[in-house]
Amino acid sequence: MKTTIEPFKIKSVEPIRFTTAEQRAALIREAYYNPFFLKSEDVLIDFLTDSGTTAMSAKQWSGIMDGDEAYAGSRSYFRFEDAVRDLTGFKHIIPTHQGRAAEKILFSVVGGAGNIIPNNTHFDTTRANVEYSGAEAVDLLNEIGKKPEVIADFKGNMDVESLERLIQERGAEHIPLIMITVTNNSGGGQPVSMANIREVRRVCDRYNIPLFIDACRFAENAYFIKLREPEFAQKSVREIAREMFSYADGCTMSAKKDGMVNTGGFLAMNNDDWAAKSKNILIITEGFTTYGGLARRDLEAIAQGLEEVLDENYLNYRIRSTEYFGKKLTEAGVPLLLPTGGHAIYLDARRFAPHIPPEQFPGQAVVCEIYRIAGIRSVEIGSLMFGKTAENGQHIAPPMELVRLAIPRRVYTQSHIDYCIEAIVEAYEKRNDLRGMKLIYEAPYLRHFTAHLEYV
Ligand SMILES: *Cc1c(COP(=O)(O)O)cnc(C)c1O
Repeated sequence: MKTTIEPFKIKSVEPIRFTTAEQRAALIREAYYNPFFLKSEDVLIDFLTDSGTTAMSAKQWSGIMDGDEAYAGSRSYFRFEDAVRDLTGFKHIIPTHQGRAAEKILFSVVGGAGNIIPNNTHFDTTRANVEYSGAEAVDLLNEIGKKPEVIADFKGNMDVESLERLIQERGAEHIPLIMITVTNNSGGGQPVSMANIREVRRVCDRYNIPLFIDACRFAENAYFIKLREPEFAQKSVREIAREMFSYADGCTMSAKKDGMVNTGGFLAMNNDDWAAKSKNILIITEGFTTYGGLARRDLEAIAQGLEEVLDENYLNYRIRSTEYFGKKLTEAGVPLLLPTGGHAIYLDARRFAPHIPPEQFPGQAVVCEIYRIAGIRSVEIGSLMFGKTAENGQHIAPPMELVRLAIPRRVYTQSHIDYCIEAIVEAYEKRNDLRGMKLIYEAPYLRHFTAHLEYV
């Protein structure tokens, strides 16, 4: 097989500012050993997130120049609406400024005290919006999805038996909708199978509960279905994506992911009553129904992005390049979450730095070291992000200590990735030199964003 090449040429470039390891050692110290405080110009390769960091295409930029900035009835809105409806088939298409705005509106309409929202795994903003409405967010991930060492095709699947048990125990009348997140971002970007979506649909039908898809990475998920579910090997990714949406009654979407844009999102659904309520909230909080908090030109870019993301040469490059990154690290012995998902690599810091106990943030030690060695920015997903302190002062660690390297779409080439592999392997070879860290400042909520740390 030949090398998978980037399926694009580069027309516009953004220089990287080079720094030395000595400079970076000082920069990360001045940032309190927290990469959220680094200036992006001091970062060589930025893997903090894949959200809104996509490189847009020439066609998207020309769409931006061509956008119709009318407040109401903009041509750009209708192009966007057509693109979303063609893909999803939903009746009401409501633009929002990003994914969480769609969630906020949806759960303002259907959430509320006494209600329960099941999901394979709620993304953190989804959970926050469910809980903010007063409802309860329940994660029902399949057992295999909880085992980082097990290699399986669809580790994002929902546990359908637990779903049915939850409905019987708590009552279908308290479950306004069931949600399924594709791919499962919080679970490592692992895909959900079409078979699982169909099973969840059957449960929805049995109890007359609507199904909504958190569709942020719908195209990556559809491509995994094509690769891994034999029934779909000959189908186009667009057909597969359409079939996924055909089982649902609505979706929320952050276009900053598989919309291939820097900002935007939408809420879509078939229910007329919920849509009317949603549009009223939209007008109060986001803007009129034909722009929803975006510039109209942004809607052009989303419409074009939804076409480009379904290009199978793009998806092949996207999934293969993430797999390549993971494969080379695995060959060098670096421990990671397997199999690699769609949008990110997750280093397993418990095995990377076993000599550092969870209360000394092994993941953060790795994050700081790969920044120092190579200027790579990553994010800890472990004790710093999710750890808690018991009343007796003991640290309660989350199940995994991970370092996420999320890969922006169409931004880096294979030689950037090769450089990162070299740096991570170097950090792994010198892992015994990694030292534990401690917090010197933490905020009461979401402390990882603003924490100050130092070495023990
Ligand atoms: C990013 C994301 C969201 C929220 O979208 P924003 O655009 O960041 O508000 C919701 N769900 C999933 C699965 C996501 O990855």
